[in-house]
Amino acid sequence: MRWWGWGEDGHTVPLPPAAEDLLRDELGVDPATRNPPVPFDQVRLSDIALPGPALEKLKAALGNEHVRVDDEARVRHAVGRSYPDLIRIRSGDATGGPDAVALPGTGEEVAAALAVCAEHKVAVVPFGGGTSVVGGVEPVHDGFPAAISLDLSRMVATTDVDRTSLTARLEAGLLGPEAERRLLEEGVTLGHFPQSFEYSTVGGWLATRSAGQASTGYGRIDELVEAVRCVTPAGELGTKAAPASAAGPSVRDLVVGSEGVLGVICEATLCVRPAPRARRYEGWSFASFAEGCDAFRVMEQAGAAADVNRLSDEDETRLTMALGSTGSTAERLGKRYLRMRGHEGGCLAILGFEGEEEDVEDRRRRTAALLRAGGGVSIGHRPGEAWRRSRYAAPYLRDELLDRGMLVETLETATNWSNLGKLHAAVGEALRSALSGRGTPPLVMCHVSHLYSSGASLYFTFLARQEDDALEQWRAAKTAASEAIVAAGGTITHHHAIGRDHRQWLAAESGPLGIEVLRAAKERLDPAGIMNPGKLLP
Ligand SMILES: Cc1cc2nc3c(=O)[nH]c(=O)nc-3n(C[C@H](O)[C@H](O)[C@H](O)COP(=O)(O)OP(=O)(O)OC[C@H]3O[C@@H](n4cnc5c(N)ncnc54)[C@H](O)[C@@H]3O)c2cc1C
Repeated sequence: MRWWGWGEDGHTVPLPPAAEDLLRDELGVDPATRNPPVPFDQVRLSDIALPGPALEKLKAALGNEHVRVDDEARVRHAVGRSYPDLIRIRSGDATGGPDAVALPGTGEEVAAALAVCAEHKVAVVPFGGGTSVVGGVEPVHDGFPAAISLDLSRMVATTDVDRTSLTARLEAGLLGPEAERRLLEEGVTLGHFPQSFEYSTVGGWLATRSAGQASTGYGRIDELVEAVRCVTPAGELGTKAAPASAAGPSVRDLVVGSEGVLGVICEATLCVRPAPRARRYEGWSFASFAEGCDAFRVMEQAGAAADVNRLSDEDETRLTMALGSTGSTAERLGKRYLRMRGHEGGCLAILGFEGEEEDVEDRRRRTAALLRAGGGVSIGHRPGEAWRRSRYAAPYLRDELLDRGMLVETLETATNWSNLGKLHAAVGEALRSALSGRGTPPLVMCHVSHLYSSGASLYFTFLARQEDDALEQWRAAKTAASEAIVAAGGTITHHHAIGRDHRQWLAAESGPLGIEVLRAAKERLDPAGIMNPGKLLP
């Protein structure tokens, strides 16, 4: 991945001309503006503070070539991929980067590296794909003189694909595409497709309890994990692979979501499914977000949801229509039709079904009947297929928007169905008022993307013209939205995790005693406190 953004050099997704018009007309941004990242040789790093003996012992444990102190390795591990991360790295600020990058090849080497770091009081930041959007991979020294990134990219084995039990053991450093490629060779799929799929890892998914775009159907990563192997400074936590267990509180669940503060997830046994032979993606329209949410609730509670279910609010639909292929296709296909049905200015929904041909058709019929009864109008397969084709495009477009001096960020939450409308309004209002005061009003949009019997997640995207102090502008919006989420009864994160950015709101979620319990576990597993300090725990 590029050190300053998403994708590889040469792979860009250009902004459609309509987007440039919209930036000018609605946000007052001059589309000719260009704020490119600084050249690599202008990136600033701090002096290396890793004690010499620690460096030598790490090299002895992992091999010289697997402990890197070169600028490129340090810059590439300096930040994750949130908006503030990108603002800083594009401006050349990698001063918080690690003192070294260690690349263990086995669980035993992980244990040896942790022992060296505990002995020399060096902070350790586990690093998967580095796609954290909550400050999870940036080293926070927190009193430690030095910090290393522990990069899992050499731990990529796939073992024990059990087609009878439908499970597979995967090592933590496997990137999404390679994990899926190997599983598909065996005729199975994990079905875990976060938008960061191309650059995120199995270990990162488990450490952050991530959710994929098809998680309503396939399950979130925490629902797919049977067992984990986690190497901590105090020893190894291995859990037994079993379909279910009543053996006390789940140690596995202590590890899943632990964000590298307890230890390093080295491998996991995950549930897989037969690879789907049929895929049908389609578009629907609703007169309003409230109507669509209600139809989605009824569909989910009847056990008739699709595998992918997304409902955009009015603002997101309007922007999608104006910018994306999904929208323009839908527009071409059905603008007049939608007007006749009273859906002009309404909301776009995308549904995706995967599985065996016959099963997919049966499910589609049942879902369609429920959506129609809820006021939905089918707009055919083209919007769905267009969405599927562009499902990983957003982070590439974000680089283009940053280049044009835009603030562009996302955040997510979840709540019960009965509270969904209130939470949607409260967060939208908080973002608009935090970002409006200082100039042109922002664009704030949202979609529902993960359904549960009791509720759903809300995923917000917001765009504004960047101000001189871009980081302060972001901080004000993030704080306002987070306060609004907590006040309106939402979770501070549905799938991005806590990291550094959400720490101050964890107590509202887990309570002070809950945090003490987590701290006690950390003290037992990581007595020197070297594991990813400054993350997760307030
Ligand atoms: C454009 C974009 C889209 C995204 N879309 C989604 C989405 O659809 N769904 C979603 O859930 N998230 C999404 N994310 C957030 C992010 O991709 C996920 O949190 C992902 O799970 C992180 O995986 P990673 O391998 O990149 O982990 P990293 O970013 O490397 O690490 C994340 C955290 O986990 C810790 N960690 C990593 N590996 C290990 C390990 N082996 N053992 C212990 N700790 C470890 C790190 O220390 C850090 O605290 C998105 C991010 C971006 C930038």
